[in-house]
Amino acid sequence: MKKIFTFVILCFIALSISAQKADLSYYLPQDISYNEAIPTPESILGFQVGEWHVSHDKLAEYMKALANASDRISVENRGTTYEGRPLLLLTITSAKNHQNIETIRTEHLKLSDATNSSTAAVENMPLVVYQGYSIHGNEPSGANAGLLVAYYLAAAEGDYITELLDTTVILFDPSYNPDGLNRFASWVNTHKNQIITSDNNDREYDEAWPRGRTNHYWFDMNRDWLVGQLPESQARIKSFHQWKPNILTDHHEMGTNSSFFFQPGIPSRTHPLTPKLNQKLTKEIATYHAKAFDKIGSLYYSEESFDDFYYGKGSTFPDINGGIGILFEQASARGHSQNSDNGVLTFPFAIRNHFTAALSTLRAGKNMRTDLLNYQRNFYKNAQKEVAKDKNKAIVFGDAADKAKTFRFAEMLQRQKIKFHKYTKNESNYVIPMNQPNYRMIKGMFEKRTKFQDSLFYDVSAWTLPLAFDIDYSYATNTSNVGSEVTDVTFPQGKVSAKSNYAYLFEWDEYYTPKVLYHILKAGIRAKVAMKPFTLNGKSYDYGTIMIPVQNQKKNTNDMHSMLTTIAAATGVNIDAANTGLTVGIDLGSSNFRALKLPKIAILVGDGINSYDAGEIWHLLDTRYDIPVTKLSTKNLSRADLTSYTAIIMPNTSGNSLKSATKNLKTYVQNGGTLIGYRNSLKWLNTNKFIKLDFKKSKGETKNVAFDQRQNFRGAQFIGGAIFEAEIDRTHPISFGYNDTKIALFRNTTIFVKPDSIGTYKNALQYTKNPLLSGYISKENLKKLGGTIPFKTANMGKGKVIVFTDNTNFRAFWYGTNKLLMNAIYFGKMM
Ligand SMILES: [Zn+2]
Repeated sequence: MKKIFTFVILCFIALSISAQKADLSYYLPQDISYNEAIPTPESILGFQVGEWHVSHDKLAEYMKALANASDRISVENRGTTYEGRPLLLLTITSAKNHQNIETIRTEHLKLSDATNSSTAAVENMPLVVYQGYSIHGNEPSGANAGLLVAYYLAAAEGDYITELLDTTVILFDPSYNPDGLNRFASWVNTHKNQIITSDNNDREYDEAWPRGRTNHYWFDMNRDWLVGQLPESQARIKSFHQWKPNILTDHHEMGTNSSFFFQPGIPSRTHPLTPKLNQKLTKEIATYHAKAFDKIGSLYYSEESFDDFYYGKGSTFPDINGGIGILFEQASARGHSQNSDNGVLTFPFAIRNHFTAALSTLRAGKNMRTDLLNYQRNFYKNAQKEVAKDKNKAIVFGDAADKAKTFRFAEMLQRQKIKFHKYTKNESNYVIPMNQPNYRMIKGMFEKRTKFQDSLFYDVSAWTLPLAFDIDYSYATNTSNVGSEVTDVTFPQGKVSAKSNYAYLFEWDEYYTPKVLYHILKAGIRAKVAMKPFTLNGKSYDYGTIMIPVQNQKKNTNDMHSMLTTIAAATGVNIDAANTGLTVGIDLGSSNFRALKLPKIAILVGDGINSYDAGEIWHLLDTRYDIPVTKLSTKNLSRADLTSYTAIIMPNTSGNSLKSATKNLKTYVQNGGTLIGYRNSLKWLNTNKFIKLDFKKSKGETKNVAFDQRQNFRGAQFIGGAIFEAEIDRTHPISFGYNDTKIALFRNTTIFVKPDSIGTYKNALQYTKNPLLSGYISKENLKKLGGTIPFKTANMGKGKVIVFTDNTNFRAFWYGTNKLLMNAIYFGKMM
């Protein structure tokens, strides 16, 4: 009995030690020696890896210390996050390779150039492996394992490591998301007990809104690899194309009760543009992970979840670039230790699994080196064969009425090393020849796809980029109008045509017009919007043209001119001088020019609000339009003084956290405020009588679905993210700045609002009868969606309620629909 008791006590001590402080020997291979001149993580951090969650500044300090101490490592800073943290990249290889690194890089790049690749000496060429950690900041065992991986690569001794570093260049990205990592570390370290509790109810394991997953503006950065709208992604994509790695790894965490996942994911959900051999190689690499995990006794699985469909994810992006992307998912302790279906899950255990997967990746790469290098070479060679068969030889794109947005699109292509040229027929357009190395990525960006092998998607099923940007594009079957290559596209400079004593005019179609208008109103200058088109000096001005009278303003003629000149130059918006008020159509003194008010905007944030949607709006206003916003916490909403806001934006929410604030919000609108609601908030606004909406109900499905297929069946009825077409009424203020009668909308909800009955007025925005442009939707849902409306307004007292069923600001790359929100903000009162 006593023996058993002692044993139990010993086990308990062992358990609590492993939960609190693991020895280096817990993590590192013990059959080799380590160079004592290399600082251990503990010697720099002041604690053992796993004991605390590393903050980003300490992580950066350690990486720099390693680079200082080891001739195997160099470090560069590629920029900063929104919160000013460095975006470090370590290059890890043998000292000999370091002396030759530029030659190695340029030789390696030959593999992705089919015209040059046959001269590349694959036999003697190092493999390039990009290892990146914790793109989701609250999935930190990756970045914490990275401390140990870097230490191992710097300090390990013996034949294996010598050979590995001779034959591999490791691009080591210690933290994909420094701001998120730090936010999470701060939360769990703040709440850590001295006597660690694994009780899942502890506050340590219940992160506060918006949690640490995302970056500063609450973006999921693991959706930004293709479009690259965020600084962290931009730095990373640059490194990627500088090297074109053969393997790229992406270390994540998932639910506490799971085990460890490594790719391949679900085979039927691989993007059709990805070669079959990619998944076969991924599977071969997986055998190395399996072997390593068997050795340490950790459970794992593959092929049953996650996928390789959306190229905007880190583990899928390499697949369209001749490499192999690999996703790792470790059950999360989401803190220092939690109870789970697999027993007590400690942070060190999670770290050790990621460490193990990082090393098994390198072992696989070393053994499969020539296969992977040849795969890359053939990927680009085969793409050239596909180009030859493609009847389309070029894509023409551009929008003369929106040069700044065309620039943003071109900039994105350039970031992804897609070449484009001047278009000899029209100087505001560009042309992309298909015959270039990144042909497959061009396909991945431009294609519209409506047929799928599977009906379930881990993420969006469509991202057709010219539709997202609302950029005109067309395919050409020849290259006869391809001019010289454009290598340095620059932001367009707007101009003021002349100095005026009477008035200035600018049309609303350029992307940055909301920024221009804000600057004008902020300076205390009066401006008006044209509710009808007119013609002046032979030029026609469309709905939504902004008119700024010169007389009786706070600025004199000269100051006004100089202010407008500065704004025009910074935004790409052209401003015209008008010296008469007499037009063909509405004269400038007409009451069809309506006075505009300086917006003062609040966004609802905090518990109950979808942080992605809120962050997208915050980012849009704060970083693109220079419009200040107040982030209004739902917990204070019932007692906040709302009277000064011209508009309050309610991002996607069930409304459960708004109950106590219903009265305050109603009073706000009734007294003249504008409330703009998105997605699920429509249901709450309808229930609480802010607006009357008639929803199409989904009928219960009654098919004979087997138990193990239920989840798939339900999943098929989701709209994970696809693109649909709506007609717009160009005379309605919501459409100001749009030149076509149709618009592409992104949708990831199943909220179907019936149109207003015929006989009242035209619906401002209405889905076409058969609206699918690109992506997956079930037949039943497509039928339901046709003819419904994505937008509606209602009067309430002196105020307005404006609702959108869909997200107009999705992930910072849906430039095409940002103006819908800006129109609601500026012109909501006139709707
Ligand atoms: Zn993740």
